[in-house]
Amino acid sequence: LNRRLAEFTTTIFAEMSALAVQTNSINLGQGFPDTDGPDQVRDAAVRALRAGHGNQYPPGPGIPELRRAVAEHQRRCYGLELDPDTEVLVTTGATEAIAASLLALLEPGDEVVALEPYYDSYAACIALAGARRVPVTLRPDGDSYVLDLDELRAAITPRTRLILLNTPHNPTGTVLTREELAAVAELAVERDLLVITDEVYEHLVYEGEHIPLVSFPGMRERTVSISSAGKTFSFTGWKVGWVTGSPELVAAVRAAKQFLTYVASGPFQYAVAEALALPDAYYTTLRADLQAKRDLLAAGLADAGFKVYRPAGTYFITTDIRPLGESDGFAFCRSLPERCGVVAIPNAVFYDHREEGEHFVRFAFCKRTDVLTEAVTRLKQLA
Ligand code: PMP
Ligand code: GLN
Repeated sequence: LNRRLAEFTTTIFAEMSALAVQTNSINLGQGFPDTDGPDQVRDAAVRALRAGHGNQYPPGPGIPELRRAVAEHQRRCYGLELDPDTEVLVTTGATEAIAASLLALLEPGDEVVALEPYYDSYAACIALAGARRVPVTLRPDGDSYVLDLDELRAAITPRTRLILLNTPHNPTGTVLTREELAAVAELAVERDLLVITDEVYEHLVYEGEHIPLVSFPGMRERTVSISSAGKTFSFTGWKVGWVTGSPELVAAVRAAKQFLTYVASGPFQYAVAEALALPDAYYTTLRADLQAKRDLLAAGLADAGFKVYRPAGTYFITTDIRPLGESDGFAFCRSLPERCGVVAIPNAVFYDHREEGEHFVRFAFCKRTDVLTEAVTRLKQLA
């Protein structure tokens, strides 16, 4: 393994999901729903496959139907106008979109300012690009997390090439506010930076609202926006994602993307094009359903003795384990299956400043109600 990847061997998600299978535990680690998305969308994939749509290489930038559907979705949800031919690129999940964007836009030695805790693929892809990550730590404040804008400002140096943003934020569930996003946008304009913004949880917001960073003044020409179908339609295995941005930025990302997978997920692209056109009621129901699950798990974790940070969005609840007399999240997560048959993720893996994150543990609530109820019963045995 080369030096760039040496610190990234097995992802925590692979390790913890394997542990869940081995110990027959309830897996509240890796964030995937245990119920598939709408039948109608699944049927659309079957129809596409049977009709021979997408069984051979689709066009590299993605099928026109899906690029048009992404543009139409952004218009309907946010009033953003995109040219589906030049400003939309279909990718193999958000994961490839992140990799291709970073590989396309970074020079070796560039600095990338990213929110910490950060989704694990950010660090690995920054390293693959030969660049350096500069984390800005989100810190707990009451029962949520806040971004210190002065720290963000102070992290920018003459070597900073881009800011890598994620809202709604994994793992803390933070939804950046209009004021925070406006400040990030102002900073990017003032220091002439690009921003890559990972908005895969755009529809999973329970309090506040998701505002695309690109909608702020001066951001159109400097923002690469990333989203995907996995979370929005509960089909995380399909790996259909997309990048949107100015024609110049999208062309740059496409140049890297064509040598990563060239193209993938043929029949699923047709199904996601149909999914994006689902009526608003679909999104409202998805949100209400997940919000109820969040509330159930949050209350259960609090009863079990955890300090709970209430997520405004995403699939995840971050907890502090110190009230349970624990302080090492890694050791806690490795022993949890044996102690009570539940798997969770130690947030420490998402930090460079390990000491900031070692006592936090993340639980996913995108699971059936009976599964969450059983998990809570088991976690209460810890007390
Ligand atoms: N970004 C974030 C913040 C995520 O949590 C995930 C994982 N679900 C991804 C990107 C990857 O998304 P995809 O499954 O579409 O590759
Ligand atoms: N995004 C998911 C999570 O944070 C996991 C995706 C993966 O396994 N890489 O749990």
